[in-house]
Amino acid sequence: MLTPHLPTLFVSDLHLHPSRPETADRFGAFLAGPARQAQALYILGDLFDAWAGDDDLGDAFNAGVCADLKTLATAGTRIYFLPGNRDFLIGDACAAACGMTPLADATVVDIGGVATLLLHGDTLCTEDREYQDFRAVVRSPDWRRDFLAKPLAVRKAEIAALRARSESGKRVKPAALMDVSAAAVAQAFATHRVTRIIHGHIHRQAHHLHDGGERWALPEWDHRGGALACDEAGCRWLTVT
Ligand code: MN
Repeated sequence: MLTPHLPTLFVSDLHLHPSRPETADRFGAFLAGPARQAQALYILGDLFDAWAGDDDLGDAFNAGVCADLKTLATAGTRIYFLPGNRDFLIGDACAAACGMTPLADATVVDIGGVATLLLHGDTLCTEDREYQDFRAVVRSPDWRRDFLAKPLAVRKAEIAALRARSESGKRVKPAALMDVSAAAVAQAFATHRVTRIIHGHIHRQAHHLHDGGERWALPEWDHRGGALACDEAGCRWLTVT
């Protein structure tokens, strides 16, 4: 049943990982608390810091997160998941187990009467050619099929090596490469004919006003959590402590 007065919540970049149990605890409390008071929860990517394939649901940490999500879905909050650059290998099996409806990146939804474009946000960082080239490779169906055909332990080792390279690369990349490009943002408003964009990925919480409309960049959850709550009256930040 639709309950129009309840807000819709948006989060991204939880980067859940067993090495940061306090972040997982904070997210668990959010799912059991504020998220129960929402009609829907949209997770805009990077729920997990890494996802090697849906067979990794056998891992106790992953299974615990999934069980908390499923509990929320069963309680009546619809959960949608859009892939991030860390967890784009989440497939239908994981989504079903967690009670989440999978969405493609760049999905337009009506939120309180406003056509809203939902993105992880990495596609807006077009200045980073090296990353965009890498993305094109790993998002191809062939790469996905070949990678998922490898044993889980091999996939996990390859992801760990990629993450180490990405972390050292971040230290030498100019800051502009790790932000959205103005041209990509303008194009997104125009292509999708929307006046609101909500995305994550860049880990810099902000509300930006553009010629095309408004853009909400969601916070990451490493030190404190945060969500965006939207309804017919508009959007506002929700701090999660
Ligand atoms: Mn990301």
